[in-house]
Amino acid sequence: MQVDDLSFDQRHIWHPYTSMTKPLPTYWVTSADRCELILKDGRRLVDGMSSWWAAVHGYNHPVINQAMNEQIARMPHVMFGGITHSPAVALCRRLISLTPEGLDCVFLADSGSVAVEVAIKMALQYWQGRKEPRYEFLALRKGYHGDTFGAMSICDPYSSMHRLYRGYLAPHKFIEPPKCRFDDVWNEEDGVPLIALLEAYHYKLAAIVLEPIVQGTGGMRFYHPEYLRLARDLSNKYGILLIADEIATGFGRTGEWFGCNHAGISPDILCVGKALTGGVLTLSATLTCRHVADTISNSDAGCFMHGPTFMANPLACAAANASISLLEDEQWKSCVAAIANQLKSGLLPLINHPRVIDVRVLGAIGVVETTHPVNMATLQRWFVDHGVWIRPFGRLIYLMPPYIISSSELTKLIEAIVECLDLPSHFLL
Ligand code: PMP
Repeated sequence: MQVDDLSFDQRHIWHPYTSMTKPLPTYWVTSADRCELILKDGRRLVDGMSSWWAAVHGYNHPVINQAMNEQIARMPHVMFGGITHSPAVALCRRLISLTPEGLDCVFLADSGSVAVEVAIKMALQYWQGRKEPRYEFLALRKGYHGDTFGAMSICDPYSSMHRLYRGYLAPHKFIEPPKCRFDDVWNEEDGVPLIALLEAYHYKLAAIVLEPIVQGTGGMRFYHPEYLRLARDLSNKYGILLIADEIATGFGRTGEWFGCNHAGISPDILCVGKALTGGVLTLSATLTCRHVADTISNSDAGCFMHGPTFMANPLACAAANASISLLEDEQWKSCVAAIANQLKSGLLPLINHPRVIDVRVLGAIGVVETTHPVNMATLQRWFVDHGVWIRPFGRLIYLMPPYIISSSELTKLIEAIVECLDLPSHFLL
């Protein structure tokens, strides 16, 4: 590596949500193994992020690596137009059997945001097929669905960065999300905005779209399963579609295979991504039920109008098959439960800390909400100096470790959070 590679990176390469003139620091990672990221200077960091919800088995997993190596030797990629292959067929069989009942038709795409675009397009084409075109969606405030334009248009219109593009984005309807927490007693009041909006406006809506149980990037909030059941009942009543964005919640993160399983509901359209490949390659899927697929296919268009170049990339499908095969014995359920217990005993007492507003834990997700925003750059450096990889944002310091994390590694992550709350004020503004 050239001496000034880091400065090249800072000068020429955009990182997620960063400035070219005032770039945030970056850390040079040379390899990653199990739950550790290894820096160029030899330091090893315990990973509390799972590379943004994705690396559920940790890094460098031999089963996933072997599946990928075998697939590389056979065929890393081939177009999907007019061609099929066993990695895709095996994966779609698995997805249909794992996801909630009735989701029988699968579209494989390249990222979470694209899966959401595909879901939006499916809903639009469904209503075209019914000869009753509808263009508006109902989404939740504090929701997050991705960075492409269709996905941005259904993100929180005020608090998200997507307000920057407001004039360009399709206008949709937004309601307050439920306040009732995951394990509170359900409060009927929480359903009122949804009931009221649908009563007044259902005839214009193509679909309700939400992140089941966990609103992720928009605030890391965990809400009550009854709200999902209500959304399902009302979408049935009014004959509109229910789209579940399970890109962050899918594959066990909340303690169930999918967020929808907490409520025992099946959406009409479901998006998965992130942990689909165990976090090694980008791949997503949008599943829908036969009725929606038939309505689209029997419409004047005659087909569903989307087809990415790297659709069903065999290498990514092979990784996904290996990752799902590792989850199939459901041992992850006890790992996630153990993580949840440890997060609860380590983090919940922080509720009494003067700098903390709230602490919440669900499955392998632990969130400490602070009274003031964190200084991401300085706090992250402090975390790195303390041997952990934690990337806070806004007023949220959170953990979502790989399911295979050991209890001593998790202790290290928790202790770093406990300690950081007593740092001088330039860390926590
Ligand atoms: N939906 C949700 C719920 C997400 O959390 C994300 C990513 N954070 C996306 C969609 C977009 O996925 P991607 O970053 O793979 O485009």
